[in-house]
Amino acid sequence: MTDTRTALVTGAARGIGAATARRLARDGYRVAVLDLSEEAAEGTAAAIREDGGDAVSVGADVADEDAVTTAVAHVAQTLGPPTVLVNNAGILRDNLLFRMTTADFDDVLRVHLRGAFLMSRAVQAHQVEARWGRVVNLSSTSALGNRGQANYAAAKAGMQGFTKTLAIELGPFGVTVNAVAPGFIETEMTRAVAERVGVPFEELLAAEAKAVPVRRVGQPDDIAAAVSFFASEEASFVSGQVLYVAGGPRG
Ligand code: NAP
Repeated sequence: MTDTRTALVTGAARGIGAATARRLARDGYRVAVLDLSEEAAEGTAAAIREDGGDAVSVGADVADEDAVTTAVAHVAQTLGPPTVLVNNAGILRDNLLFRMTTADFDDVLRVHLRGAFLMSRAVQAHQVEARWGRVVNLSSTSALGNRGQANYAAAKAGMQGFTKTLAIELGPFGVTVNAVAPGFIETEMTRAVAERVGVPFEELLAAEAKAVPVRRVGQPDDIAAAVSFFASEEASFVSGQVLYVAGGPRG
């Protein structure tokens, strides 16, 4: 039987991806930590190894077809065939529609959607061979619409349709595909939002927390826990779902 204990997490140098990589390592997976640069990814991989886990760092742009092919082959050779994939890499290029450049639109769709497509297509070969697999895609509450995020909302809503379609296509091979849609999570991504709008990060965090029913913003580990559930053996009958992890019912 094929060994199915290798996970690959994209955008895992920091934030939600880093927390997810560390969580999956604690769950017993060998983890490939992929980010734009191998050096950036190495921080997370080293932390996993220090905790007694097994991890490698990989540098690749998830939207670059050749880089993705090379990266997935490298992971299969060094760690084992990846059967768990977390499509987490992402960027923001916020602006109101009338100010949004074509590049802002294309860049966001390129990383989130094309990136998830290329990574999933490369990894499914290993999942189908193993007759087992898990794909977890990062969507967002922004999929429901968010001012200044026409590009990002379209990408994150697109991730949901992508998730449901992959669930249908890959289910017969023992592969489940689900999405986690976070609300406001304290990461470099949201810190950059505060900088862009000229508000101290602590102020933004306090304002966001007030609007959340559980009265706090999310932490990367909140999302990692949801990914861990979808990746688990117990979740084998859960597929094509979107779980909003937002401290309230939005979604
Ligand atoms: P983050 O702190 O900005 O981390 C994202 C990581 O992805 C960075 O290390 C970034 O590398 C990497 N990355 C960007 N483009 C890439 C590419 N083309 N190929 C490979 N790696 C790439 O973001 P985060 O807050 O942890 O968010 C992670 C995911 O959750 C994203 O998909 C995001 O849209 C989603 N999400 C976040 C929130 C939130 O409130 N934070 C809410 C809902 C959904 P560089 O540093 O080199 O750019």
